[in-house]
Amino acid sequence: MSPTNAEVFAHAQAVIPGGVSSPVRAYGSVGGTPPFVASARGAYVTDVEGRQYVDLVGSWGPALLGHAHPEVVAAVQEAAARGLSFGAPTTTEVELVDAIRYRVPAAELVRLVSTGTEATMTALRLARGYTGRDLVVKFAGCYHGHVDALLAQAGSGVATLALPGSAGVSSAVAAETIVLPYNDVDAVRDAFAQHGPRIAAVITEAAPANMGVVPPAPGFNAELRALTHEHGALLVQDEVLTGFRVGYSGWWGLEGLREGWSPDLFTFGKVVGGGLPVAAVGGRRDVMRQLAPLGPVYQAGTLSGNPVATAAGLATLRLADADVYRHLDETAARLRESVTKALANAGVPHALQWAGSLFSVAFGDDVAEHGVRDYADVQGSEHWRYAPFFHALLDAGVSAPPSAFEAWFVSAAHDDEALARIENALPAAAQAAAEA
Ligand code: PMP
Repeated sequence: MSPTNAEVFAHAQAVIPGGVSSPVRAYGSVGGTPPFVASARGAYVTDVEGRQYVDLVGSWGPALLGHAHPEVVAAVQEAAARGLSFGAPTTTEVELVDAIRYRVPAAELVRLVSTGTEATMTALRLARGYTGRDLVVKFAGCYHGHVDALLAQAGSGVATLALPGSAGVSSAVAAETIVLPYNDVDAVRDAFAQHGPRIAAVITEAAPANMGVVPPAPGFNAELRALTHEHGALLVQDEVLTGFRVGYSGWWGLEGLREGWSPDLFTFGKVVGGGLPVAAVGGRRDVMRQLAPLGPVYQAGTLSGNPVATAAGLATLRLADADVYRHLDETAARLRESVTKALANAGVPHALQWAGSLFSVAFGDDVAEHGVRDYADVQGSEHWRYAPFFHALLDAGVSAPPSAFEAWFVSAAHDDEALARIENALPAAAQAAAEA
């Protein structure tokens, strides 16, 4: 007999802090026992007890094509058979970089790393190295990985656990980060007026999805571009989550490309590795040329550009064509409508927030009336309604993200059958939210 989720979780908690390798997986804010996943295919995950769920977590982003797409798995198997890691350059990593540059030409040079955290960390070091300045501006509720300087008022697990930041970040490092309210151009202007000559970079999620989804107000990102330019700072657009998910060329393809501007640096992750550890930092040639071995800004990685991981990323990008993105958009639109309908029927005031195919729901009269513009709005919402909503879905075999502060992820494999299962589960979930 295979063990139950509760049995594995109990053992895991005895040997791993919180029983998990990344905090939000522990179900801290929704309560209960997380299913331990035994396998996943298409739109479904199966736990160690043999229960199957329609998955709306998607590995938190990478599973764009659905889980274990046969062509991606085959590419990984073929690469693995040729060797797991060489610590030497390979053609696959160059092909992956070519694929990234084809979609986002403003990423003139690209360096591959293994996690989004490394990508944003490298972007900041580059920005500081290039400008010779020390301060970094970030926005409350934006998550850029667990980089010391970027954990202040970060979203995602930091928001889920209601932490102001993280213990263990030195005050010297924290003092170099200016945290501003999202979507507030005046706050950015003031920060530049006060500290302009010291600001190396503004880093922003291209469209934030780690405080729930909070789309940039029209013109906000373009204004960041203009202000950074005016003051000699770099704009770092973090597309770890949005890159190659919200469209063929990421969020930049929906906005910057159409408006004719680009950030100085991009960070990518998640989809770019197709489920294996690949992330990237890319951007202006003159800035990227500061990286070692060409320049004085050091960065490296034993497993960077790993041949098996880059094969997964390359296969994923090759398969993610216009049809895939159309399907994602249509699927997300249908689900948004279904969620709204169920909540409206149950009399739950809410706001359905979305950016491309990413979406999330926030509860409460305030957000229903005014929408969600920033982290304060999110924190002021009735997020306690999310746990019963989530558990009603889980009981019906639907795995939504286990936190009100995360986006829902659909995939190319979410078909009518999977969507119908979610839609059947929504009325009871909405009722549970109403009664919370
Ligand atoms: N930036 C953004 C926008 C993210 O969503 C994440 C991860 N959720 C990261 C950076 C960090 O990526 P990783 O977890 O791979 O370190």
